[in-house]
Amino acid sequence: MVTTLDQAINQTIDTLISESELKERVSQLAAQLSSDYASQDLMLVCILRGGVVFLTDLMRELTIPHHIDFMAVSSYRPGVRESDGMVRITLDLLTDIQGRNVLLVEDIVDTGYTVSRVLDLLSTRSPASLRVCCLLDKAERRKVEVPIDYVGFQIPDKFVVGYGLDMDEYWRNLSYIGVVRI
Ligand code: 5GP
Repeated sequence: MVTTLDQAINQTIDTLISESELKERVSQLAAQLSSDYASQDLMLVCILRGGVVFLTDLMRELTIPHHIDFMAVSSYRPGVRESDGMVRITLDLLTDIQGRNVLLVEDIVDTGYTVSRVLDLLSTRSPASLRVCCLLDKAERRKVEVPIDYVGFQIPDKFVVGYGLDMDEYWRNLSYIGVVRI
């Protein structure tokens, strides 16, 4: 069932990760990345739309020069909160990544289908390196193994919203990560 505006207005969100916890962890990740990629050509590839808040906070904390680009995929169907493994690329990069150090910036890795599909595609384009940075990792839900190089938080098997993540397009604007109270 798809969330209606009336339902969204009446929903209560319980905080799972607070704004200050997110800020602190994103700073730590950015410091690590700034060190690991120092003096290297870095391209951040954000998967829309969920990764966009994480990307914009992360890039402003990076102290090294870098480029950004975007991809979009669709795997979840409206009202179905489960990836079906049929991940379609709906928006491709504008940039040629051959010979570049690519870091995939993703909101959450759940079954792993999305990151796996994107890595398969991008690796055919001969980047110098290809790594993954995800804010949230729901490891217990994994269906396919994916290499994750940088993780913000391990989280339990709950459907989370906020900080870019949506429920039927609502709640992306929250400054924290939460769970909709049932
Ligand atoms: P995967 O392909 O790993 O199953 O899922 C990746 C995508 O599914 C994420 O980029 C995100 O868009 C969506 N997703 C997975 N788990 C959640 C969740 O708990 N909340 C929200 N809002 N989206 C999720």
